[in-house]
Amino acid sequence: DGVLFSEVRRPCGVMVLVNPQSGRGQAMALYNGHVQRMLTEADIPHTLVITERPNHARDLVRNADLTQWDALVILSGDGLLFEVVNGLMDRQDWEKAIQTPLGILPGGSGNALAASVHHYTRSLFTSCTFYGGLCYLFMEHNYCLPSAAGSVDKDSSRKPHTHDRKSGSGAGDCDIIKVLLLGLISGLDLISICLSSGARLFSFLSLAWGFVADVDIESEQFRQIGELRFLLGTLVRLASLRIYQGKLAFLPAGDQPETDSDSTTDNQLLDHLLVPLDQPVPQDWTVVEEQDFVLVLAMFQSHLNEELMAAPDARADDGLIHLLYVTAGISRATLLRLFRAMQSGTHLDCGCPHLVYRRVRALRLEPLSEAGVMTVDGERVEYGPVQAQVHRGAARLIST
Ligand code: ADP
Ligand code: MG
Repeated sequence: DGVLFSEVRRPCGVMVLVNPQSGRGQAMALYNGHVQRMLTEADIPHTLVITERPNHARDLVRNADLTQWDALVILSGDGLLFEVVNGLMDRQDWEKAIQTPLGILPGGSGNALAASVHHYTRSLFTSCTFYGGLCYLFMEHNYCLPSAAGSVDKDSSRKPHTHDRKSGSGAGDCDIIKVLLLGLISGLDLISICLSSGARLFSFLSLAWGFVADVDIESEQFRQIGELRFLLGTLVRLASLRIYQGKLAFLPAGDQPETDSDSTTDNQLLDHLLVPLDQPVPQDWTVVEEQDFVLVLAMFQSHLNEELMAAPDARADDGLIHLLYVTAGISRATLLRLFRAMQSGTHLDCGCPHLVYRRVRALRLEPLSEAGVMTVDGERVEYGPVQAQVHRGAARLIST
């Protein structure tokens, strides 16, 4: 259902947004070392924007003249794309603005969307692995994007194909960018998330509460160790495993694919499946009986982070929220086993009675404790009752 990027318009201008602080500061080196040259070789005019502070990108795209840009490419982590998406949705002309093709090149410490996209499109690649937050794509002809730090050979066991072209700037270098910019544009679901303050966010990755949210925030202190940060955080949290009390309800997806029933009112994308938070959920919703959880995790893409494939069947524009929750009573050993299985996306086959997986279109979560951690796309948000609904293919993603 995708259209070729080149059919939309001849590429005339791409804005490349780089957060120099993302990851371990690799994004800028990746740009200077490779991306700039590859864009030039591929004859794709572009403008580099280096963000100077949080919300810089959001403010910029909120006010930019989007007719100048054929695509916005984010060379950073998921956090910068989150800013861009929400900046586009802030605009008066959001309906048109959110149609701007978005590209993601993994340069942060959290590259869950890039990991998901590569999972979806894996058939196009011989193999795809990650190393230290950078992505190596081995295409049919064994093209390799080396790391900015030249550390590509550090762990050769992770590269099944050694015939890379990291020396020289052969024609192969352009291919990755062509795949990025001349590839297919597919829909990207946006999930509208309503917080109790009335604030509304647009998310493309995940909503987490309980164990996963706590690990995500607590492990920020282990940033220097890169991808191991989540594992270490998991072990720390396991040692002090706790129960989170709350009410969970959802609208099951059913068997029918979502028809495009998105409507707009007052120049807003309307959440037609939601009723106000102070009213009971609609009749056709399922209210979960249990109120003691270890975690609640709503996934909108396959990958929670580069290591964990929490929702293996998810697709960028499937119009689904992949809801996972773990109820109290699970042992530490079983929970650890589930996370280990999640690395290969086999946790749903473990037959664990405490793990529930449902495909839904909307959900509501009301934590009963006063304080706690809730994250959207890996970033901490205001704590309290929250509800969400999916808007199928509301944004557009360059996804090969
Ligand atoms: P990472 O994956 O390493 O966390 P992200 O791209 O997700 O990288 O960015 C993390 C956060 O950094 C984002 O929430 C964004 O708002 C913020 N940010 C963007 N630009 C800057 C900057 N120049 N300095 C500090 N923080 C920034
Ligand atoms: Mg991030």
